[in-house]
Amino acid sequence: MTARILVVDDIPANVRLLEVRLLAEYFEVLTATNGPDAIETCENGKVDVVLLDVMMPDMDGFDVCRRLKSDPATSHIPVVMITALDQVSDRVRGLEAGADDFLTKPVNDLQLMTRVKSLVRLKSLTDELRLRASTTRNIGIEELLSRNFASEDTTPKVLLIDERKSSVERIEKMLRDRADLDVTSDPHAGFFQAAETSYECVMISTAFANFDPLRLCSQLRSLDRTRFVPIILLAEEGEEERIIRGLELGINDYLMRPIDQQELTARLRTQVRRKRYNDQLRASVTQTIEMAVTDGLTGLHNRRYLDSHLQTLFDRAVARRRPLSVMITDLDRFKSINDAHGHDGGDEVLREFARRLRKNVRGIDLACRFGGEEFVVVMPDTDGAVAEKVAERIRAEIAQKPFAIGADGKTIEVTVSVGVSSVLKGVDTVAAMMKRADLALYEAKSGGRNRVVAKAA
Ligand SMILES: [Mg+2]
Repeated sequence: MTARILVVDDIPANVRLLEVRLLAEYFEVLTATNGPDAIETCENGKVDVVLLDVMMPDMDGFDVCRRLKSDPATSHIPVVMITALDQVSDRVRGLEAGADDFLTKPVNDLQLMTRVKSLVRLKSLTDELRLRASTTRNIGIEELLSRNFASEDTTPKVLLIDERKSSVERIEKMLRDRADLDVTSDPHAGFFQAAETSYECVMISTAFANFDPLRLCSQLRSLDRTRFVPIILLAEEGEEERIIRGLELGINDYLMRPIDQQELTARLRTQVRRKRYNDQLRASVTQTIEMAVTDGLTGLHNRRYLDSHLQTLFDRAVARRRPLSVMITDLDRFKSINDAHGHDGGDEVLREFARRLRKNVRGIDLACRFGGEEFVVVMPDTDGAVAEKVAERIRAEIAQKPFAIGADGKTIEVTVSVGVSSVLKGVDTVAAMMKRADLALYEAKSGGRNRVVAKAA
C-alpha cells in the first residue's frame, strides 16, 4: 500500500524525523513548515493523509485543520494532529476542528504506522467512491454532498457492547441527548443486534471476562451488513498491543479508560460524520449506476443496458444450445398521438404501454425502451413459436383496452406492431437476429399495423 503523506511542522528537524520513518515504509512524503503552505499543497496535490503539528506560529494546527475540513475540496483528507502535550483538552479542540486522529510527541513508531495505514485504507475507499460518483455524473460531487450536511444534526444510533454495569451506566450518562444508545452485555447477542439494526457506530469494551473482543471486531468486519459500521474500542491502560491489533483488523478508533466525556462525544461525532459522508457517496454511486441503465420515463431498462447485456444473453444461449428470441415493438402512429394530445399525453401512453408490457413478460425477460416509441424484449429459453404467442398477447392487450389520458377520463385507442426473431441454429449473430426482427416489424407496419410478424427459424 503506497500513499502520499504530507508532514507539517514548523521545525525542520521534526519534519525530517517523520519523513525518514515514513520513507522507510515506502510512503511518498511531502513536507511543509507552515499552515498556508500545507493548505496549498492539499489543494493542489494528491495528499492521502496529513500529519499536522499543533504548535506552529501564526497559523496553528487547529486553524489549518479547521480550514482543510471546511473546504469541500480537502475535507475528505484525513488529518492526524501531532501534539507535544498529551492533553485531553488539546485532543478535544482538535477533534472539534475536524481532526481524524492524534499522535503524541515523541511519536511511537508502531502507532504512527498503524494509524497512517488505517487512515490510508479509509481514504482509498472514499477516493474510490468519489471517483465512481464523479465520473458518471456531471453534477459536482462536492455540491451533491454539501446539500446533505444538515443531516449531521440528527442523533446517531449507537450500540454499546459492554458487560460491566458501572461502565455502561457511566457511558449512558455521558451520551444522554447525544446518541440514541442501545446496550447489550452479551457479545454474541451484540453481534446479531449489530447485523440486524443499522447503527452508525458500535462501541466495544475490551473488558470481557470470557470473550475476546477482537473476535467480535473481526466478525463485524467480515459481515457485509456491518463491514462499514465504525467501531470504537473502549480499552484499558496498558492494552496498546491489543489496540494495534484491533486497528489492523479494521477498528476505526479507540478510547482509553477512564473515559473523558468530551473526548468520547468528539470521537463519536467524527466517526458518525465520516460514515454519513461515505454512505452518501455510496448512495450517490448506486443512484448514478441505476440512472445510467434505466429509462427515466418508463422505469424499464434503457438502450445502453440492452447493448451491454444482449450479447451476453445471446452467447449464453448459443453455448447452452438453448433457444432465445427477441421482439421489437413499435407503437402505431405515435406521432399523431403526440400531435393530438401533446407530449404529456404521449408520455402517458408510453408509461402505460411499458406497464402492460412488463405485465406480460417474465422476470427473466429483458424489457427495454429502445428509444422513442420503440421497445425491445429479449426472451431467454424461448423459441420462436412461444415468442410469437407472447407478442400476440401483448398486441391484443394493447388494442383491447383504450388508454386513459389526462385527469378527465379521456381515452384513446392505441395499437402496436411487433417483429419477432430468434437465434438460428448454425451461424448467427446478435446484429443479424436484430436485423431480422427489424425486418419483421417493417412487414407488420407495411401489412397494415396492429399485428405480429415472426421471422422465426
Ligand atoms: Mg511546532
